Amino acid sequence: MTVKTVDVLLVGAGAMSSTLAMILKQLDPTLKICVVERLKSVAKESTDGWNNAGTGHAAYCELNYTPENEQGDVDISKALSINASFELSLQFWSHLVKNKILPTPSEFINRTPHRSFVWGEKNVAFLRKRFELMSNHHLFEGMEYSEDFDVLTQWMPLVMQGRNKKQPVAATNMSRGADVDFGSLARYMMDHLETQDNFELLLNQNVEDLKRSSTGGWSVLLEDRETKVTSRIRAGFVFLGAGGGALPLLQKSEIPESEGYGGFPVSGQWLVCEDSEIADQHHAKVYGKAAIGAPPMSVPHLDTRVINGKKALLFGPFAGFTTKFLKQGSKMDLPSSIKGNNLKPMMSVGMNNMDLTRYLISEVFQSDRSRMNSLRDYFPEAKDENWRMEDAGQRVQIIKKDESGKGTLEFGTEIVASQDGSIASLLGASPGASTAVQAMLDVIEKCFSDRLENADWKEKLKTMIPSYGESLIENKTLLNDVRSDTLETLNLNIS
Ligand SMILES: Cc1cc2nc3c(=O)[nH]c(=O)nc-3n(C[C@H](O)[C@H](O)[C@H](O)COP(=O)(O)OP(=O)(O)OC[C@H]3O[C@@H](n4cnc5c(N)ncnc54)[C@H](O)[C@@H]3O)c2cc1C
Repeated sequence: MTVKTVDVLLVGAGAMSSTLAMILKQLDPTLKICVVERLKSVAKESTDGWNNAGTGHAAYCELNYTPENEQGDVDISKALSINASFELSLQFWSHLVKNKILPTPSEFINRTPHRSFVWGEKNVAFLRKRFELMSNHHLFEGMEYSEDFDVLTQWMPLVMQGRNKKQPVAATNMSRGADVDFGSLARYMMDHLETQDNFELLLNQNVEDLKRSSTGGWSVLLEDRETKVTSRIRAGFVFLGAGGGALPLLQKSEIPESEGYGGFPVSGQWLVCEDSEIADQHHAKVYGKAAIGAPPMSVPHLDTRVINGKKALLFGPFAGFTTKFLKQGSKMDLPSSIKGNNLKPMMSVGMNNMDLTRYLISEVFQSDRSRMNSLRDYFPEAKDENWRMEDAGQRVQIIKKDESGKGTLEFGTEIVASQDGSIASLLGASPGASTAVQAMLDVIEKCFSDRLENADWKEKLKTMIPSYGESLIENKTLLNDVRSDTLETLNLNIS
């Protein structure tokens, strides 16, 4: 069996591994890095353009990031932290564009206004309150609000055409929102990495197992999915950036930190329209309010998309249930992930989330007609013949053991790392690829803390991400400086 030795092994070639590999390579070009991917090409699971919504999540339009409590108070703290994280991604991508590592920005990011749209008095009152709080913070400067039918018609003509003028409606507008083709972005990063010394990308290689190596670090067993030939890689540090496949690998690592975690898969579908005459009449991401019981990532939205350079409209996602953890995974993924240490948390989540269960059942059994009717809530004059259904990517929500031994269902992402920092994994999927830079910086801070003490790494991080180590939520001047630079570099300025 062939055995290789590397400094860093990244499992999975999606948004997360490509970002981590790129940051590490910039920090230390001599690091020997290998990425292994089970599919034949890069970024074909959740990161591919058609598998996600491509929203540059900055919390401009996603109403689930600003929850309202029973007293009617709106909490914007999550929105502030997501916005600040997205600014880090924009800074890193700008650095790569300026250094000609990424191509012209329109190949992967395009300015697309982010708008929230609601109807009904209660929802209008919520949106107004949300706007008042957000527009007072420098991160959300520039946000506009209107209840005027004519203004809304200018902002989103397809959404307003054929709508009852007597119904109370409201919307917010953020012109500097972005649509991101995360698949292209990851592929550009991998293309560049492949031109570098001390870097290797191995495709069609499934990580079957991993165990601590007697000489320190990890010994990882791979199988070629075509030839069935096995090989081994020894690595000082392993990152499990395997998307839905991260949980089973984390369990195989048997690190104590992995205990009690489980996964709850949620699949998705979109309605897609590629008729350019229709797509050209909508230029925004219009997010609405989620149905009761819907998981946060199932907020309906009508989106302008630019994927592989071509414009389309997407509506959805419609949630579904499968036992697969990856779109191209196995139906045994969920059953095989049930272990003695997560059985109780998983069962308690099943029993305590009846709203979600009811919601998923109703989504799974929804007819095509009912899906088109959901679209007509956002595009009243949509015609069946212009739309088709497409499968979206797979998300695995985190189930986590709480102090009482029961489970909680988490909708965010979490980095689980071993105490010695030799292995880390990313679980969960939201806010996702938009905040990959923040997530990977967290991995570096957890697992390369000794190297970070070195002034050289800190300086390099400051070059890549000028606001690194400082709070954009607190520092308005810094935010204005970095934002004006990234908007200019990435062509996201309002022309
Ligand atoms: C429906 C939907 C909508 C979304 N919308 C947005 C959005 O609008 N904005 C946003 O920012 N994010 C969004 N996301 C989330 C975003 O897509 C993900 O967070 C991100 O793509 C995850 O990247 P990743 O690299 O962790 O995983 P992935 O892209 O899934 O990559 C993991 C890779 O690991 C490989 N792999 C798995 N197991 C193994 C193994 N054993 N051996 C070798 N390789 C393995 C897989 O083949 C895959 O290529 C959405 C996700 C979904 C599903």
